[in-house]
Amino acid sequence: AWRRALQEKYQSNAEAPVPKSKYYVENTFGTVGAVAVDQDDQIVQGTSTGGMTNKMYGRVGDVPVIGAGTYASDEVAVSMTGWGEKIMRAVSGHTVSAYMKYEPATIEEAGSYLLQEVLNPGEAGMIAVDKYGNTYMDMNTTGMFRGKSDSEGNREVAIW
Ligand code: ASP
Repeated sequence: AWRRALQEKYQSNAEAPVPKSKYYVENTFGTVGAVAVDQDDQIVQGTSTGGMTNKMYGRVGDVPVIGAGTYASDEVAVSMTGWGEKIMRAVSGHTVSAYMKYEPATIEEAGSYLLQEVLNPGEAGMIAVDKYGNTYMDMNTTGMFRGKSDSEGNREVAIW
């Protein structure tokens, strides 16, 4: 996939500042995110990634940037996947939290505001949980492996 991405990059625009390839979009398996709220209303999140295919040496994506692809506040925990430069530019995780707090908005409204208005087009997906245990898992791409469970034993998984 990397060789194909490299070839494609040099066939199109070698100077493109943002590495983006259809191989990245078609073969996105590397990022893992988790969000949780416990019985004491503590909200946490974590995100891990290998970055994007063909990324520039030394590139820092959205995942280690608090407030971008990874963020937890008193309102909500957000973990994101997708095109990191766009996720960072929108300070996405913080945007969701601020929208919920100041609009004020539900997790659903804030999540769709980010994915459908701010990051559209944007090739991103997010999982989030608020302090009440409400969840939001959606994307503006074709799919994202995701799942959730609660202390009552309810479980759900989805791809598309
Ligand atoms: N967001 C990650 C990055 O841009 C990549 C990914 O989520 O697949 O580094």
